[in-house]
Amino acid sequence: MSKIEEFLTVEQEQDIIKAIEVAEKNTSGEIRVHIEKITDLPPLQRALEVFHLLEMDKTDLRNGVLIYVAIESRKFAILGDEGIHTKVTENFWDAEKELMLSYFKKEEFSKGIELAIREVGKKLKEFFPYHSSDTDELSNEVSRGS
Ligand code: CA
Ligand code: CA
Repeated sequence: MSKIEEFLTVEQEQDIIKAIEVAEKNTSGEIRVHIEKITDLPPLQRALEVFHLLEMDKTDLRNGVLIYVAIESRKFAILGDEGIHTKVTENFWDAEKELMLSYFKKEEFSKGIELAIREVGKKLKEFFPYHSSDTDELSNEVSRGS
């Protein structure tokens, strides 16, 4: 059993996937979660790397959002694609980051991620409402690093 499994049970992972599915029923935006143990980089910089690795910059409306977590390093970031950030300010995700942090401090990682997904979904909905022709452009599965 690797460290990530210790932090995230199969059930909790399913809850996260479910939260993404629910959020994406209200917006054309695409939310992904990437969890790994450690990063030496500033979290936003690493999130940007992961964003490209996961080809999250390939959505039609450039409206993907990555929730990045490095568990052992106690680092995380929320990163939206340029379609979002041309419409909003730099500190757009501050409330969601604070929400996550408050749960991470209590070691409630999955809960923090789940609630952040819900709030990110609500914000995305304002700018990128759901269309009946919407497709699931990016997998809802939790992506894992080593
Ligand atoms: Ca979609
Ligand atoms: Ca998706």
